[in-house]
Amino acid sequence: MRIDPDKCVACGNCTYVCPMGAIYIDPVIRRATVNRDECVECYACYNGLSQEHLNPTLVRTVRKVFQMMRLRFDPEPDVCPTAAFAPEELTWPRVVRRAFSDPRVPHESTGVEGRGTEEVKTNDVSGRVNVGEVGFTIEFGRPGVGVWIREIQEMSVVLARADVAFEKKNPITSLMSDVAAGTIRQDILNEKVLSAILEIKVPVERTEEVIRLVWEVEKRLETVVAIGVGTRCDPDGEDRTVAPILERLGYKLERAKTNMGLGRITNSPPAVRQTEGAR
Ligand code: SF4
Ligand code: SF4
Repeated sequence: MRIDPDKCVACGNCTYVCPMGAIYIDPVIRRATVNRDECVECYACYNGLSQEHLNPTLVRTVRKVFQMMRLRFDPEPDVCPTAAFAPEELTWPRVVRRAFSDPRVPHESTGVEGRGTEEVKTNDVSGRVNVGEVGFTIEFGRPGVGVWIREIQEMSVVLARADVAFEKKNPITSLMSDVAAGTIRQDILNEKVLSAILEIKVPVERTEEVIRLVWEVEKRLETVVAIGVGTRCDPDGEDRTVAPILERLGYKLERAKTNMGLGRITNSPPAVRQTEGAR
């Protein structure tokens, strides 16, 4: 994202809407400026503020006159008074930032809007996590923090060494140069995104091992990491296998979502009509 210095009147409204704190008023040029390293191209500034088309010279003059009278002339807080945003035509590799940071932009590898896939939310029709398996979503970044792709690679390489199965339809998997090694394309490692998700699955008995690996790598990263665990329930709707492992590791369990197996099956994996739960 760029801000046109000829149009900006330094009202500061956009500095409050950027989830990465990437917009600041440059004291030298007295204009709002975007920190290109930190900007994740989420377009929250451009889409979140109404664009008015006031004359910048006029607005600056009025603001100065008001200032001399110890008064303030500020636009409404949800407005850029001079439509100063100038979104760029994003090219590779910077366009990767937007694909993972603007939830309205479908990722070209999955067709899904945002940073991940539907993962276990639709497991009753997709059958991605089968009986005896556990699916993990390992989520990196948050508004205010973000994540560098190279940090995600640090995790994916360790997981690949442990021989986990990466979800093929996941956007990060689609950007790997070598899925077996967990390496991501070199040319995007220095791109930053709002958040991204690695999706893997392993046999149930490897649940603890994977969680401990994630804990170990997470300590080295300068972002936040959240683990989601998805598993199939018993026919009576309970989970007596994975839940005790998670509790032993200190997690307080919340059942985030339960799929009832009532959806139209799009894949034909075995036994997809069992009740399943996602934690
Ligand atoms: S809202 Fe518009 S005019 Fe105000 S500081 Fe931001 S870019 Fe400049
Ligand atoms: S595109 Fe997003 S990250 Fe970049 S300056 Fe605008 S709000 Fe901030």
